[in-house]
Parts: sequence; structure tokens; C-alpha cells
Amino acid sequence: MLKIENLNAEIDGKAILKGLNIEVKAGEIHAIMGPNGAGKSTLANVIAGKEEYEVTDGTIELNGEDISELAPEERAHNGVFLSFQYPVEIPGVSVTNFIKTAINETRKAKGLEEMPAKDMLKKIREKSELLEIDRKFLGRSLNEGFSGGEKKRNEIFQMAMLEPKLAILDETDSGLDIDALRIVANGVNKLKSKDNAVIVITHYQRLLDYIVPDFVHVLHDGKIVKTGDASLALELEAKGYDWIKQELV
Ligand code: ADP
Ligand code: MG
Ligand code: MG
Repeated sequence: MLKIENLNAEIDGKAILKGLNIEVKAGEIHAIMGPNGAGKSTLANVIAGKEEYEVTDGTIELNGEDISELAPEERAHNGVFLSFQYPVEIPGVSVTNFIKTAINETRKAKGLEEMPAKDMLKKIREKSELLEIDRKFLGRSLNEGFSGGEKKRNEIFQMAMLEPKLAILDETDSGLDIDALRIVANGVNKLKSKDNAVIVITHYQRLLDYIVPDFVHVLHDGKIVKTGDASLALELEAKGYDWIKQELV
């Protein structure tokens, strides 16, 4: 699904990713952990193709195709989803209408016609039931006055509707209460299939109490320096990151 080799990336001329390698197969959940400033969000943004970041070396392959030169929308159309891709508040545009537009734009980019309204409604109903999202929420203006949990609900709903091949959830450390964590975790667990893959980025182990990753990677100073199974997250929680830095010396 995703194969990243020797990825080097910089922002404002400052090297952030320094030879990063990772391979994610369909059906897998990977967690990326690491200290603040390690480059976790940078990795997410570089995979999604955010323009501020410059890839100076290495390759990013999605299903065998190098996507590193593609625009962010093209990557999205190829099945890459990054949480908080659409954090904007849009008064008057509902959660539902926003996602309808996003889906139809993706279809247009692939040369398909708009999804018939009936199918769209069916899909919205199925996904909102699966995720236990109520109708009132779907009618609210996008992100306007959303709580942390509601923002997460919206993201997970977007993910469910867009059915990405690769979802990257960058769970930045702040503002994630237990409610929000559960929404994200339930969503990931319910949307996981043998055909998609999820990368969950988190600073803390808490989220991984609810999502059991197949692999846990530690990102430190722009590289993945350690990979293990779910137990590595517990070890990190207990021991912090310093022992890994010491192992590297
Ligand atoms: P993490 O998500 O692991 O906490 P980030 O990827 O956000 O780390 O940041 C890695 C490094 O890149 C930090 O030193 C940060 O200050 C720097 N950085 C990230 N984004 C920017 C930016 N837009 N402009 C300048 N420096 C940035
Ligand atoms: Mg950070
Ligand atoms: Mg971050």
C-alpha cells in the first residue's frame, strides 16, 4: 500500500525528515509515536502533499505508484486521507453537504458522474449508523462551534464516506479528551478492512488502549529508529523516550 524509502524533507530550508523508511500493507494499522518535534506531523503532511514541505530525497509510493510529485488533491483522489485536511469553519455548509461535494469532486476527477442522490443518501445513512452519528449533527454547519469530540466525529465521518485506501490520523497532543479518543478509536476499528490501512500518529499511548496497532514505530529526529508490536507503546509509556535516544548513541 504505502512504501516510503529514504524520505528527506525540509521546511524553510530546515531538514526535518532525514532518511525515513516505512512500509504499510493493506489491512494494517500502524502507530507512529515519538517526542514532540520529532517530525510526526511533518511526515503526515509530506505524505498528503502539503506544499510548504519540500521533499529533497527519497520516494513515496502508493500501490506501486510514486505520488511524491502529485498535488494534495490528486493524492486525495488516489485514496490518501489526512485528518484535519478540512479544518475550516464554513457557516451555512452542513457536514453532509460538505462531504457530498468532496465525494463528487473526487468522482469528477476520476471522470465519473455525480453520485445519484439516492445512493448518496443511502451511504450517508449507512455510515452514520455505523458510527452512531445522529442526524442533527449531520445538519450542523461545518466545524462551527464544534467541540473537540464533534471535530473528531466529523473527521471520522469524512473518512467513512470517502473510504480512503490510506488514512492518516494525526492526533496532536492537545485537546483530546477521553470522549474524542473513543470516537476516533471506534471509528478506526469499525472502518478497518483488509483493503485499507491506517496510520495513527500520537504522542501518548492512551489512544492505543482503544486501537490495537499491528506495528508501533518510534520517530526520532526525522527517522524511524525503532519498530515493534503494540507492546512497544506500553514500554514507551512506562519508560519515556530517553532510553531509545540512549540506545542510538
Ligand atoms: P511532531 O509532530 O513530531 O511534534 P513536527 O513535524 O510538527 O513534529 O515538527 C518537526 C520540526 O519541524 C519541529 O522542529 C518544528 O518546529 C518544525 N516545523 C514544523 N512545521 C513547521 C513550519 N510550518 N515552519 C517551520 N518549522 C516547522
Ligand atoms: Mg508537535
Ligand atoms: Mg505533531
